[in-house]
Amino acid sequence: QAPLRVPISLPNGISYNQPTGLFIDGQFVASHQHKTFEVLDPSTEDVVTHVYEAREDDVDLAVAAARRAFDNEWSVADPAFRARCLYRLADLIERDAETLAGIESLDNGKSLLCSRGDVALVSRYLRSCAGWADKLFGRVIETGTDHFSYTRREPLGVCGQIIPWNFPLLMWSWKIGPALATGNTVVLKPAEATPLSALYAAQLVSEAGIPAGVVNIIPGFGKIVGERLCAHPKVSKIAFTGSTATGRHIMKAAAETVKKVTLELGGKSPNIVFGDADLDKAVRNIAFGIFYNSGEVCCAGSRVYVQDTVYEEVLERFREYAEGLKVGNPFEDGVFQGAQTSQVQMDKILEYVGIGENEGARVVSGGVRSGDRGYFVKPTIFADVREDMRIVREEIFGPVVTVSKFSTVDEVISMANDSEYGLAAGIHTRDVNKAINVSNRIKAGTVWINTYNNFHESVPFGGFGQSGIGREMGAEALDNYTQVKAVRMAI
Ligand code: NAD
Repeated sequence: QAPLRVPISLPNGISYNQPTGLFIDGQFVASHQHKTFEVLDPSTEDVVTHVYEAREDDVDLAVAAARRAFDNEWSVADPAFRARCLYRLADLIERDAETLAGIESLDNGKSLLCSRGDVALVSRYLRSCAGWADKLFGRVIETGTDHFSYTRREPLGVCGQIIPWNFPLLMWSWKIGPALATGNTVVLKPAEATPLSALYAAQLVSEAGIPAGVVNIIPGFGKIVGERLCAHPKVSKIAFTGSTATGRHIMKAAAETVKKVTLELGGKSPNIVFGDADLDKAVRNIAFGIFYNSGEVCCAGSRVYVQDTVYEEVLERFREYAEGLKVGNPFEDGVFQGAQTSQVQMDKILEYVGIGENEGARVVSGGVRSGDRGYFVKPTIFADVREDMRIVREEIFGPVVTVSKFSTVDEVISMANDSEYGLAAGIHTRDVNKAINVSNRIKAGTVWINTYNNFHESVPFGGFGQSGIGREMGAEALDNYTQVKAVRMAI
């Protein structure tokens, strides 16, 4: 039998014990079938450890534990207790921030710069959720003097949460935070490529005093664990972040038992630079918009549109900027862009580079793997693109960006909106009227003006169109985890 914990020495000098079991009902346990799967370090391709793989019967156990915890403890707990638990969890994440950042860089391949940013947002967001826990209000409705009518916001029950590999711990917090604040319990499946931080943080859930069964973490594969969660009759809701194709599948699977579903899916977000923008800032923002987190960002600004008056200048400065970014070992000082998370992902990105070249686009920078060990791809800029090219229309999910030219506001709005997605958009201009006018006309759940990939725990995030259903963070996230009960009493 494989161990339930293994010692790991992180390249940032921290040694710790990594849990490798399923976290069910407050305990780390082996899976029923004792199967394990490999976890790789994408920057060296070495095996880091093996983690137990959940199957259908493990899912059933986790759901039963979550159901008991929901009925007997968490949904009926004093909201102020739920708040205290979440505040403590946020403090523990902060205490272990460097360990968690190291785990994330080891498991996902992202630079420490990115991991530290993720972990900081995790504790901020958990505190924000803690603050909401005792501030959920129903309404008293005036219906005359012979009846008393009011509403309550009640939790949904057991929430199945399925998360991707690009922001493993951050997505963990975006899912767990609002669910717990509102009195739900959860069974969460991390992505098979990146299960380590969610398991490490499960220990902190216990240490924070969150009762056993409220949070269950079951690493495993989408086709098995994910499908079982979607079909399970005792799961009330599925919250999913990942590809649009899998999102569609999940929605269909959840329809059978009429589960509530929230989806945070893919994107192909436009990032627009007008001629009157502060070009220093605009170039930094378009680079940050696409190369941050190695381009593995659902809202990456992967289609850049530059006004013709400054097109050549911006393209040249963007190329210089991209070539100056340090790519490599995520733990090395000054590295901005680490590894892609898997070989599959790296291969997919390089395949798209080939597709772009065959379509007639011009590689201005990058376009190749960096080194021959680890899944590193050079920041890649395409110019001379047409709007019907696949590299302009499809989500690549890597450090690959297309740059197109436009001349008028109407033209760029029609180019920007010509997508099935609608997750985010960026606008760079010094003209306030133009900024507001264009942001009103863009079809996207988030519009960033003179900034990009800029998140705040109080500001909702989610997609228009095929980029998703529902919102995460902000007050809106709580709506996804509560249902309204109306009470009407004759007097
Ligand atoms: P995916 O959407 O298939 O995986 C995301 C999560 O869903 C994982 O935990 C996975 O195990 C689970 N899953 C997979 N199939 C499932 C099923 N049938 N039922 C339930 N759960 C299931 O993404 P992927 O295959 O890892 O990556 C493919 C592409 O998706 C990427 O190249 C990228 O373009 C995109 N992607 C987008 C995001 C995002 O945040 N928008 C995140 C990850 C990947």
